Amino acid sequence: MAKYTGPACRLCRREGTKLMLKGARCSSDKCAMERRASAPGQHGAAKKKTSGYAIQLREKQKAKRIYGLCEKQFRGYFDKAENMRGITGDNMLILLERRLDNVVYRMGIGVSRDQARQLVNHSTITVNGKTVNIPSYLVKKGDVIAVKETKVDKTFFKALKEEKKVIMPAWLDFDNATLTGKVLELPVRSEIDQKIEEHLIVELYSK
Ligand code: SF4
Repeated sequence: MAKYTGPACRLCRREGTKLMLKGARCSSDKCAMERRASAPGQHGAAKKKTSGYAIQLREKQKAKRIYGLCEKQFRGYFDKAENMRGITGDNMLILLERRLDNVVYRMGIGVSRDQARQLVNHSTITVNGKTVNIPSYLVKKGDVIAVKETKVDKTFFKALKEEKKVIMPAWLDFDNATLTGKVLELPVRSEIDQKIEEHLIVELYSK
């Protein structure tokens, strides 16, 4: 399926929850969910009966949209997680969190996952000193994530140096002054604050 290119806020309204897709706007009173939280469309505000399948489908769509993935990519993470040791749902979320674009977002280099992905795509991020422009790159424990030296004088990164460190998960660290961060550990499920009921996704894909 083609990539969705419509308004991001419409996706939040569709899922009935804040997906935090637009950086600072999401925490402001300009957020569309603060103004009108009903689903988009003419009958969006109407109450609908929800089947078990629909609940599972919506949870999968929500997770997919939070991480900005298309169906094929998302399904790929499930398949990989299923073949790993441990709990499939936990494995899937951990794999998603380990994506380089997500890590760049979590470290506060990008204000949203979308912006973080652009930064990676535009070759502004290095991993262990080498440029990595693949957003799906899976970080490992000990990886050093930094802004490429030739890019640090760009206005965007100069401003980032002045900003306060964002609150980030315990498995990551980032120093704004040096624009360098580190993957201290791989995440565990309890450290992933995303409100996703992954068991519903596992049930959906296991049908
Ligand atoms: Fe969603 Fe952010 Fe738009 Fe609010 S501002 S509806 S959280 S994308």
